[in-house]
Amino acid sequence: MTPAYASPPLLDVQSLQIDLPVGGVPVRAVDDLSFTVARGETVCLVGESGSGKSLTALSLLRLLPPIARIGRASRIVFDGTDILQLAPEPLRQLRGQHVAMVFQEPMTALNPVRRVGSQIAEVVRAHTTRRSAEAWEDAVRMLEAVGIADAAARARQYPHELSGGMRQRVMLAMALVLRPQLLIADEPTTALDVTIQAQVLDLLRAQRVASQMALLLITHDLGVVAEMASRVLVMYGGRLVEEAPVDVLFSRPAHPYTQGLLAAVPGIRQDLGHTRAADDEAPRLATIPGTVPALGAFPSGCAFRDRCPLAVAECASEVPALHQIGPAHRARCHLVREARSEAHATSPSHEQGAVRP
Ligand code: SF4
Repeated sequence: MTPAYASPPLLDVQSLQIDLPVGGVPVRAVDDLSFTVARGETVCLVGESGSGKSLTALSLLRLLPPIARIGRASRIVFDGTDILQLAPEPLRQLRGQHVAMVFQEPMTALNPVRRVGSQIAEVVRAHTTRRSAEAWEDAVRMLEAVGIADAAARARQYPHELSGGMRQRVMLAMALVLRPQLLIADEPTTALDVTIQAQVLDLLRAQRVASQMALLLITHDLGVVAEMASRVLVMYGGRLVEEAPVDVLFSRPAHPYTQGLLAAVPGIRQDLGHTRAADDEAPRLATIPGTVPALGAFPSGCAFRDRCPLAVAECASEVPALHQIGPAHRARCHLVREARSEAHATSPSHEQGAVRP
């Protein structure tokens, strides 16, 4: 049997660069971003607003606004196909059928004047040879699969007649009806209350297991990451600052930004794989000082240095490289490199690099 690590990744993003104009001048919003997603894997892309994670998600299906520019050296390869080189018709086929996307706010993605069942059935008809009646049956079946009671009646309703949680389920039904190989979900539960959020996450997990679908989940919520991820990518200032398997990231975060994010969520490290942080712990929250700068206002060198408690002179002059500090664990920090080289002199066989605040 071929070992899993020998298979080519389902999604392979290399050297992604995205520029956006600010005051007429192109500014790098995503810089030198490389990552992969394997078949059936759940990867979480984490970061605050302004980290570049949503732009990254949009770029994967070429849904960026026209003012955005993707760098010439960027590569986005899905199942062997270079998405950035695809002609319009194969790109249309790929979207929805093989790669689907759900957004935070379903009202912006649903057509308000069409019945939700028709909107799902239309996806089926656009990508298959199924007739109208069959596509409608698929839509109702999928609404049942995403946990909507009395699906046949709900399918005849309009988006405004449904609750926010139900609309998000409709969006999921639309995204999942063709059993895509990859679902990109950008903050799919942020607008939902906690109970509905848990139900939607359960649903995503069940669908992923049922169809071996890979999931790229974009979120700022580390509780969601703990529940869902097998691997985590942390972004700041348009760059990947840390990448690790979820248990490694939560137990041995190496980058000061990741350490700050984790310190701001009480109990999250202990709760990994079980539940969200308990509300009754009455914790003292640590916060990362300052706020994320606006695009174009990040400092030179390390983009995090204005907020980093450990910054040294080198951080202002040089962009840190991504250092490999363990199996599948990388971090972009000058101190990680120093910790690694010092530690290698004494203990070369252990994963190194965790920076202690
Ligand atoms: Fe902090 Fe410097 Fe590391 Fe950036 S490179 S995270 S500023 S110590």
